[in-house]
Amino acid sequence: MRRLTPVIALAALAGCAHQAPQAAPPDPQAQKALAVKATAAKAAVARAAHANELGQIPVIMYHRVIAHPATSDDQTPKQFREELERMAAEKYVPITAAEYVSGKIGVPAGTHPVVLTFDDSSPSQVTLDATGNPEKDTAVGILLDVARAHPGFRPVATFYVTRDMFGKFTPEEQTQVLTWLHDNGFDLGNHTRDHIDLRKQDRKAVVEQLTAGNHLITGHGLAAPSTLALPYGNLPATKSWARSGDGYKFSGVFLAGYDPAESPFGTRFNALEIPRIRSGPKTGECKQFCSAAWLDWLNKHAGQRFTSDGDPTTVAFPKFDRAFLAKTWATKALPY
Ligand SMILES: [Zn+2]
Repeated sequence: MRRLTPVIALAALAGCAHQAPQAAPPDPQAQKALAVKATAAKAAVARAAHANELGQIPVIMYHRVIAHPATSDDQTPKQFREELERMAAEKYVPITAAEYVSGKIGVPAGTHPVVLTFDDSSPSQVTLDATGNPEKDTAVGILLDVARAHPGFRPVATFYVTRDMFGKFTPEEQTQVLTWLHDNGFDLGNHTRDHIDLRKQDRKAVVEQLTAGNHLITGHGLAAPSTLALPYGNLPATKSWARSGDGYKFSGVFLAGYDPAESPFGTRFNALEIPRIRSGPKTGECKQFCSAAWLDWLNKHAGQRFTSDGDPTTVAFPKFDRAFLAKTWATKALPY
């Protein structure tokens, strides 16, 4: 018979028949064995999923989605839809820029996170009709439609806004569109108030632009953004001015080219210079360094792409890559 624990024994002696039974105190040996077993089970899941949470993540940069593109940055609704459908078919799941920089990557096992970013807050990205629903040929309308057809493809994205504010001029209309985006899981980021090239500005002007850029969002009762996308991809003369100053502090600063981004858990992650990939077909100036080319490359080099183990509490990766794990994430490491 099992020996009575002191608490239960005392209760029995005192004749406390009505007292709720106490759980036996944890046996450290058994606890340890259980933890080892749980870790082994998690590692098996990670191995089966070919998880590599130290791999690269494409952060795609979009501008306008319009029927008649005027520059190579613009896409037609058809091009945009086809790119989203391609990513859904290739097991990409969108996450926001805020989630990416903070390492909150909760996508299913075997899938790959992708960050969809939209610059310059044009009405082609989101326009709401009179009842508050997005127009169907806007980027948001198309993204929601693709997500409906591909369960698991999360309809989330990050919008880097300027004073152009989706073509809305009154504070009330701006509040409506920003609040709608926030309430529907979209992320808002800073792109400076006036879309200026920060490389040419002194510190005072940089601080003023970034503080005012934050105010474009916080002025409507929303939280300050956690990320910045640099206009033209240009950092200020002193890079750290972009990261924090009176009135702003960013967890991530995004450039405008040309590679897939590093895992936020890796030693190569640099929060101050996160690359983005321009969306575009594999032709002309986009032959090598736009989205179609990079998505092909990531398919071909699957071992270098971020693949999730489905568990947001761990950072899973093949043991061989351990040297690339940033020290700050060591407690979550799940090498296999
Ligand atoms: Zn821009």
